[in-house]
Amino acid sequence: MHFDIDKIRNYFPVLRLEIYNKPLVYLDNAASTQKPLQVLMAYEKIHNDYYGNIHRAAHYMADRATSDFEAVRKKAGNFINASSEKEIIFTKGTTESINLVASSFGEQFIRPGDEIIVTEMEHHSNIVPWQLLTIRKGAKIIKLPISDIGELQTGLIPELINAKTKLIAVTHVSNVLGTINPVKQIIETAHARGVPVFVDGAQAVQHLPVDVQDLDADFYAFSAHKMYGPNGVGVLYGKEKWLEQMPPYQGGGEMISEVTFEKTTFSEIPFKFEAGTPNITGVISFGAAIDLLTEIGLANIAEWENSLLLYATEMLKSIKGLNIYGESGKKSGVISFNIKEIHPYDLGMLLDKSGIALRSGHHCADPLMKYYNIPGTVRVSFGLYNTREEIDRLMAALARAVEMLK
Ligand code: PMP
Repeated sequence: MHFDIDKIRNYFPVLRLEIYNKPLVYLDNAASTQKPLQVLMAYEKIHNDYYGNIHRAAHYMADRATSDFEAVRKKAGNFINASSEKEIIFTKGTTESINLVASSFGEQFIRPGDEIIVTEMEHHSNIVPWQLLTIRKGAKIIKLPISDIGELQTGLIPELINAKTKLIAVTHVSNVLGTINPVKQIIETAHARGVPVFVDGAQAVQHLPVDVQDLDADFYAFSAHKMYGPNGVGVLYGKEKWLEQMPPYQGGGEMISEVTFEKTTFSEIPFKFEAGTPNITGVISFGAAIDLLTEIGLANIAEWENSLLLYATEMLKSIKGLNIYGESGKKSGVISFNIKEIHPYDLGMLLDKSGIALRSGHHCADPLMKYYNIPGTVRVSFGLYNTREEIDRLMAALARAVEMLK
């Protein structure tokens, strides 16, 4: 594999920062990633060269912004191998993508007594919108449980599905455990029983190649800010056959065909779901992030990050009293752990003072914390720019912190 880590790190000047007089070691990539020069430059270029509102005025600035914006829709579609860019809706993030489906698909297809299967390892974003929907509609959430090593008990799915089941919501990769779920197999099982599947791809698309047609996902959501793009931009992929049947999510400009006070007709998909002025500059600079990921190659990124995962896991396991949550054989670059008798917040705070940026807390996954009966974990999450040297720094800082806290 040719993976030029020095060249990649040079794209991210922020990685040269020193904090508290220590080199920054950024290991909170599951929360959000740093931004490369390509994205920063694209953002500046739009403002300097051709900023205007899209899809509206017939002038150079608006035309150029519109064509660049729409080019990113095509790019995002190709990135996950959607069959048409009509299936790509821009949102402000994974959370909004999920809320859009819960609201619109929910309005059309969920009736009192219906059931939605949600897994025990979901981020709150992939629980709460479904819960609000079930409250609104008198429907019910059914939990798909996990096992101790942090894998979904997929064998239970056929038993959980019945005539009332209207949807399964599952994350592709867990933001706490790192588990890569067998979504293709889950979708196959669900489809054989006529149930569509919503996949939360927020922790997947930046780490492994994703092909929504191969997965046969009905919906797939992700956020630009976790994939080296700007914040405030997300994608919802939806199969055309669903999007065509779903009512608009929000009303406003852009999403209409004709408005009278008596009646409004709506635009074609995807515009029907994009009311108002979208995040024009965010979407266009997101294109630069997709280009970078494509150029480096997701398979190469997966291999690099997997080597970091294996190295760090082995090193961490050598620490006495350290317990890792999530020990599936199929993991992405996320490691959650606790050290006996040390609170994760204390550890996180001391590591921060050593220049190590990582996350400690419940990671917006309370049901998972309840399953393990813990208040939270310390979480290390890798990005494509991390190195073994940084893991060594983490280990040294960890040893110092443990010494102080014991
Ligand atoms: N799902 C998962 C698995 C996540 O990790 C996150 C972000 N932590 C989200 C959804 C929500 O993403 P966003 O905040 O970008 O909407």
